[in-house]
Amino acid sequence: MSLLSATLSTIKPSPTISITTRAGELKAEGRDIISLSAGEPDFDTPDHIKAAGIAAIEAGHTRYTPPDGIPELKDAIAAKFARDNGLNYTRAQISVGTGGKQVLFNALKATLNPGDEVVIPAPYWVSYPDMVLLCGGVPVVVETGIETGYRLTPEALEAAITPRTKWLIFNSPSNPTGAGYDWQSLKALTDVLLRHPHVWVLSDDMYEHLAFGDFKFCTPAEVEPQLYDRTLTTNGVSKAYAMTGWRIGYAGGPEELIRAMRKVQSQTTSNPCSVSQWAALEALNGTQDFLAPNARMFEARRDAVVSALNACPGIDCPVPEGAFYVYPSIAGCIGKTSKGGTRIDTDEAFVTALLEETGVAVVHGAAFGTSPAFRVSYAASDAALKEACARIKAFCEGLT
Ligand code: PLP
Repeated sequence: MSLLSATLSTIKPSPTISITTRAGELKAEGRDIISLSAGEPDFDTPDHIKAAGIAAIEAGHTRYTPPDGIPELKDAIAAKFARDNGLNYTRAQISVGTGGKQVLFNALKATLNPGDEVVIPAPYWVSYPDMVLLCGGVPVVVETGIETGYRLTPEALEAAITPRTKWLIFNSPSNPTGAGYDWQSLKALTDVLLRHPHVWVLSDDMYEHLAFGDFKFCTPAEVEPQLYDRTLTTNGVSKAYAMTGWRIGYAGGPEELIRAMRKVQSQTTSNPCSVSQWAALEALNGTQDFLAPNARMFEARRDAVVSALNACPGIDCPVPEGAFYVYPSIAGCIGKTSKGGTRIDTDEAFVTALLEETGVAVVHGAAFGTSPAFRVSYAASDAALKEACARIKAFCEGLT
C-alpha cells in the first residue's frame, strides 16, 4: 500500500517556490543571480506596523486567540471593507487566517464535494487548481489570451458554467499577468453570474492597492450588490503592507460560509499568529499614506520593464493595470536555440536556459496555465531590473 494519498499525487509543489529555491541555491554557489521569481515586495514592513507587533509581544498577546481572529482585528477589517470597497460586514461575517492562502483553502475545503467544478481563468495563480484538487473538486480552466489582455470574457465564462459549477475564482489585478478588470468589464461578468444563481464567487483581491494609471480597483460584490450573498471577498496584508512573513489574510462573506471556514481552521491550524494579528490591526487602522506612493513606484518599474522587454526580439509584453508582475509572450522565441545550446521548445526550456546561462530567474508560463510565456516579478530594485532586462535582451538576441 502506498504511503501517500491518491489526492496528493494529483498536485505539484508550488513552481514559484521551486524556482526561487533553485535561484537561491545557485546564489549560494557564488553565481551572480537576479531573482525575479518571488511574489513579494522588496522592502521591509513599515516601522509603525513592526512596532505594533513588538508591543503585542510585550503586552502578552502571545496566547491562543479565537480560531478565526480577534474581535479587534475583525472590526478593523470590517472598517476596511466599508472604507475601500463599500461592503458592509459584521464581525460574524469575517474570517482571519494564516495568509490569504489559508483563507482561500478554508473556503474551498468547507464547500467542495467530489466532482464540484471551480472555474479558474488562466493564466492563474499557481495555487488555485491544486487547492481545488486537494479539496476534491475539479478545476475548470478557461483560457483567456493576450488579445483580451488576459481577461476573461463574458462569453467564455458563460460557456464554462455547468450545473456542477460551485465557484468562479476571480483575481484582479492578477497574479501572474497584472491584468485588472475595470467596473464595466467586471459588470459584464457579474451579469453572467446573475443568470446562474448556483455559482458562488471567490474574489481574491490581494493586489487591490497596486492599481496604476487610470485603472480603478473594484470587486464583484461592490459592482453587483445582488451577488453579495454568494461572494467571498478575500484579501490580506501580505503585499500592500509588505507583510508576507507575518501570514495574515482575511475574508468577508455570508455568515454560514464564514462559520464553516472557522470549523475547518479550528481543526487544522487554530488561530493565525496572535502577534501578527495585532500588527495587521495596525496595518489596517494606521496610516495608509504610503500605499499610493508605493503604487506609483511600482508603476514606474512596470513601465521600465515593459518597454525593456518589448525591445527584446521574440518577446511581446502587454501593459498590465496592476500588481507587480508582467507576463510577456515568448511565441517568437520558440523553436530557436540558445547560445548555450538549449533548444527552446517550451517556456520551461526558455526559463531554465535563461537562469543557467544569464543568472536571471523568472517563472515559466506553463506553471500558470498559459504558454509560451513567462512571469517577471518586478518587486526588485531599479538597478536589478535594468541589469536583468539587459541580460534577457542579450539572451534573446543570442537565439538562433
Ligand atoms: N492570492 C494571490 C493572487 C497571490 O498572489 C498570493 C500570494 O502570492 C496569495 C493569494 C496569498 O497570499 P498570502 O501570502 O497572504 O498567503
